[in-house]
Amino acid sequence: MTTTHDVVNPATEEVVATVPLSTEEQTEDAIERARAAFESWRRVDPADRGRLLRAFASLVDSHIEELATLEVRNSGHTITNARWEAGNVRDVIMYYSAAPERLTGRQIPVPGGMDVTFAEPLGVVGVIVPWNFPMPIASWAFAPALAAGNTVVLKPAELTPLTAMRLAELALEAGLPEGVFTVIPGSGRIVGEVFVAHPAVRKICFTGSTEVGRHIMRGCANQVKRLTLELGGKSANIVFADADLERAAAAAPYGVFDNAGQDCCARSRLLVERPVVDRFMGLLETAVAAFRVEDPARETAEMGPLITPGQRSTVASYVDDAEVAFRGTCPTGAGFWYPPTVLVARTGAERHWREEIFGPVVSVLAFDDEDEAVRLSNDSEFGLSGSIWTRDLGRAIRVARGVETGNLSVNSNSSVRYWTPFGGMKQSGLGRELGPDALAAFTDVKNVFLSSD
Ligand code: NDP
Repeated sequence: MTTTHDVVNPATEEVVATVPLSTEEQTEDAIERARAAFESWRRVDPADRGRLLRAFASLVDSHIEELATLEVRNSGHTITNARWEAGNVRDVIMYYSAAPERLTGRQIPVPGGMDVTFAEPLGVVGVIVPWNFPMPIASWAFAPALAAGNTVVLKPAELTPLTAMRLAELALEAGLPEGVFTVIPGSGRIVGEVFVAHPAVRKICFTGSTEVGRHIMRGCANQVKRLTLELGGKSANIVFADADLERAAAAAPYGVFDNAGQDCCARSRLLVERPVVDRFMGLLETAVAAFRVEDPARETAEMGPLITPGQRSTVASYVDDAEVAFRGTCPTGAGFWYPPTVLVARTGAERHWREEIFGPVVSVLAFDDEDEAVRLSNDSEFGLSGSIWTRDLGRAIRVARGVETGNLSVNSNSSVRYWTPFGGMKQSGLGRELGPDALAAFTDVKNVFLSSD
């Protein structure tokens, strides 16, 4: 029996849509259709595959406002962010649309003949997407997977399926054949588990919690299924005394409160060199007070609500027994609102310092020197992103090499560009998405020797 899920606008608590939750049988049928479509999709002339992806990208481009508005209502993202996210989908598809004709192998010198390699598509790729960035995270997997000749089945998060479902319609409208890109709304425990267990699914791309990531990794081991994982984070924002403190403090709220802190790259541990702690905190307090938390549909909004009341309770549980330095403001009434909150850490053992909160909460800890900054930064099971603020180039290089994390910015908090690699070290993930090398994660190398005898 098909059940349904009411999709709720987190800013108003109103039901936006009711979406069917797919059953095991429906998921298996979709995988079988994707398996059948793979046989022809992999043989589509590379130039035609590229053209179809470009048609898909331009349809996304002409629907940016529609997709963005849908995301504001489904996920509570600010309209400015949601437009960027839809634009990012367009850019990622366009970037990888240039890949099919460039997916070259190598010719390796050997005696007695010729040796060549081919980048072969894997088959059906299963993509499992979380609720925090429904559009970009989906496209980071489906675009290179399709470009490399795979077919894709994609499970959006139960809470935020609407934009992915719309993207699948746009793909069909652009001319991608039936079965090449299928979005299957449903629960992780049903649809997600079938992806992992079904032998026709040759690779899983999972973004979400480290706990579920570990569970999926165990499941994939049964079939030696390929796997890319993008998991949690607890990234450090390291501010040295020689930094442009005004710039670092003005940028810090955006580095952690963006998307209400529901961001695996959130710089939620703020390390500040002791001599400038007081000055920096004064500047940060001004920046946090000015941070606009309001109806995410407003052009001026810088932060919207949290995704669910449950997420809000989880976030609050980290703040209840912590030392609060200061807080911003947020609306009251309907909606899952939570104010930007700055906590003080004293030792680095505090729960709010160590665990991923996934809300608008940042913890501040003082450090004494460069070595201590690197040590405190690395004292985490995670390693996804991070920032270093300093005017000393040598220090920037030393600390960037010392911090164990996949994506670092110096004098900036930006983590994501579609043409540079993205992914985590340690328990933040496995493999890399985006950039020029992502296709390698969606292909296997085949080596062929041709005898000249
Ligand atoms: P989950 O890891 O539970 O969910 C991520 C995706 O995995 C969803 O599509 C979910 O489906 C699916 N899923 C859940 N269980 C399974 C399973 N057994 N097999 C296959 N797929 C499954 O994250 P939550 O949404 O529960 O968020 C919890 C916490 O995880 C957050 O508070 C945050 O700390 C962290 N998180 C980190 C993210 C990141 O980007 N690094 C993203 C999201 C969460 P369904 O929608 O049905 O639950």
